[in-house]
Amino acid sequence: MRLTALPAFDDNYIWVLNTGDGKAIIVDPGEAAPVEAAAQQGLTPIALLLTHHHNDHIGGVERLRSRWPDVQVYAPYEDRIPIDCERVADASRFSLLDISFQVIEVPGHTRSHVAYATDGLLFSGDTLFSLGCGRMFEGTPPQMLRSLQRLASLPGDTQVCCGHEYTLSNAAFALQVDPANAALQRRQQEALAMRHAARSTLPISLRSELATNPFLRTDAPAIHAAVAQRLSRAPVDEVEVFAELRRWKDDFRA
Ligand code: ZN
Ligand code: FE
Repeated sequence: MRLTALPAFDDNYIWVLNTGDGKAIIVDPGEAAPVEAAAQQGLTPIALLLTHHHNDHIGGVERLRSRWPDVQVYAPYEDRIPIDCERVADASRFSLLDISFQVIEVPGHTRSHVAYATDGLLFSGDTLFSLGCGRMFEGTPPQMLRSLQRLASLPGDTQVCCGHEYTLSNAAFALQVDPANAALQRRQQEALAMRHAARSTLPISLRSELATNPFLRTDAPAIHAAVAQRLSRAPVDEVEVFAELRRWKDDFRA
């Protein structure tokens, strides 16, 4: 199995998992053109997995389906994904090209957002980014924190495949919150080098994220202290740490 990230729009990734003979599982095809270009190189989409209804994640589906009518489409139950397809919910399982996928409902960015996990990979859409998390458009802090905690409980060697290349801008915020974190400093340096070489900073291991991503470290003393300083009092619980971090990031300009 080969994993590739096709860049789309300004900073989206369309993830592609393909076998030696080119059969491919495509995650979040926000536009069709990058997938069609990959098809020129011998790729044949057999399935499309959708994490949430935002157009930069589903916009290419109809065009891809008109070209490959047999492609199987998987999506959460959501009226705003008006596509005839297989619907998935929490703990749904299905198998494609001998890979078994498990669905994890992760409300917060949107209320029907799902993530897809395989043995070793996590397609996290706009819920978990490297060094950050998605904006909380439709969920509450307890919901979003719980969603992130569920993803964080996967095995540490899971490779996280995020919906956007946001690592460097997230690093600037993460370092503001957690400036003494050596693993985070290293990750920023590595990400800078990768971007200079026009490479993706993804996927990244969950183990690395657990050591560096402030939104997965709401129980860490350093994060707690940074939030306490901003609130001028101790946060009452982890949910408040998370809520304040998310607010802080929403206002943050590097
Ligand atoms: Zn989105
Ligand atoms: Fe997005």
